[in-house]
Amino acid sequence: MSGKNLYDKVWERHAVRELPSGQTQLFIGTHLVHEVTSPQAFAMLRELGLPVRFPKRTFATVDHIIPTHDQARPLADPLAEAMMTELERNCRDNGVEFFGPETGHQGIVHVIGPELGLTQPGSTIACGDSHTSTHGAFGAIAFGIGTSQVRDVLATQCIAMGRLKVRRVEVTGKLGRGVYAKDVILAIIRQLGVNGGVGYAYEFAGPVIEAMSMEERMTVCNMSIEGGARCGYINPDDTTIEYLRGRERVPTGEAFERAVADWRAIASDADAQYDDVVQIDGDAIEPSVTWGIHPGQNLGVGETLPRVDDVAAEDRASVAEAYDYMELQPGTPIAGAKIDVAFIGSCTNGRISDLREAAAVAKTGQVAEGVRALVVPGSQEVDEQAHAEGLPEVFRAAGFEWRKPGCSMCLAMNPDKLIGQELCASSSNRNFKGRQGSPTGRTLLMSPAMVAAAAIKGCVTDVREVL
Ligand code: SF4
Repeated sequence: MSGKNLYDKVWERHAVRELPSGQTQLFIGTHLVHEVTSPQAFAMLRELGLPVRFPKRTFATVDHIIPTHDQARPLADPLAEAMMTELERNCRDNGVEFFGPETGHQGIVHVIGPELGLTQPGSTIACGDSHTSTHGAFGAIAFGIGTSQVRDVLATQCIAMGRLKVRRVEVTGKLGRGVYAKDVILAIIRQLGVNGGVGYAYEFAGPVIEAMSMEERMTVCNMSIEGGARCGYINPDDTTIEYLRGRERVPTGEAFERAVADWRAIASDADAQYDDVVQIDGDAIEPSVTWGIHPGQNLGVGETLPRVDDVAAEDRASVAEAYDYMELQPGTPIAGAKIDVAFIGSCTNGRISDLREAAAVAKTGQVAEGVRALVVPGSQEVDEQAHAEGLPEVFRAAGFEWRKPGCSMCLAMNPDKLIGQELCASSSNRNFKGRQGSPTGRTLLMSPAMVAAAAIKGCVTDVREVL
């Protein structure tokens, strides 16, 4: 009999029972909550007269609406203040731990979970946010859920879900200079398509993935959802274990050793079966940039923008729509496209290693005239570490603004927004129309180092020319 992959092992461990619908009732080990998708769910619970079933498995923070300039209470925006107050009340009333700004652990929900050690191998993790797939970097099965499912998990710690197929995505070879985890996931999405992962969990593997730090692995898993996969994961290994050792919510002593044995056992077996296996040539990956209105519309920074007639017939309509919106010229190089805004942050690339990479580039020059450049750490811990390393001074000296932690301009639910048709070099994860706060604002996704290079040159630039 052949072995099992991690997805199947975790699934079987958490399956409560098969439902008449054919779905599985799946137990959720850890439920992460934030201010945007939880108020209605808590309200529904109140109406039903139900308590939170496992408050000690439920953790909350505030990230989407929090301003990054002045976080003093009451918040200047009454709607943001009301949402934060509501979350605080819901947590207090239900015995749920809330990582607010006063705790020193506030931040983007997908940044603080791993930082605190709440994210552990072999667990199931749910959150009312698409990019919950981030936590799969630890060998967890982690997925975003809708508001009614947030209610279900609050009330029962379970959701009803169909089993996914599993595709192993092997990234071979070795990354070149100036090529980062963001480029790897953009290359994967370019090759497999934004809908290529529908119905699948992605298992990322191969020498490029194995050589990555945990923070790089989180960047890759974060954007699994942009490739259509419900979740993405990486098998736990020594890198995972060393990252978790000593974290606040990770067991210590003998309990840690027992946990490690379990984490190793949950990894995919050497002879595990998959529904599909694909290979991506890591040696060929270039620093990448999106040019369109979904993350699959990306290319190497040295390439020219595709002509509508040159793309596959089924892609022509979306390519034409992208040009209509982005106002870029087919057949011209993407390098040199002038930017108005540079944003470094988000749950994809707002971690300390991202800020270090970007700072190394920021050191080489000054933000170009007319460019607004923001650096927003993913959490208070990242902010604190960055201060300890002198990174805010590096960025400020180069003309960047250093802000307080939050989602910021990734989704622009706070005051950090594009204006009009501004073109933004962004380290975030979605380049959908209007994503960054202006209905006509335009987004180019790239690695944090590439964003810093674009900020300094005032246009899309190959980071290898600056480093
Ligand atoms: S940083 Fe962006 S993608 Fe991540 S949780 Fe916040 S809004 Fe969502």
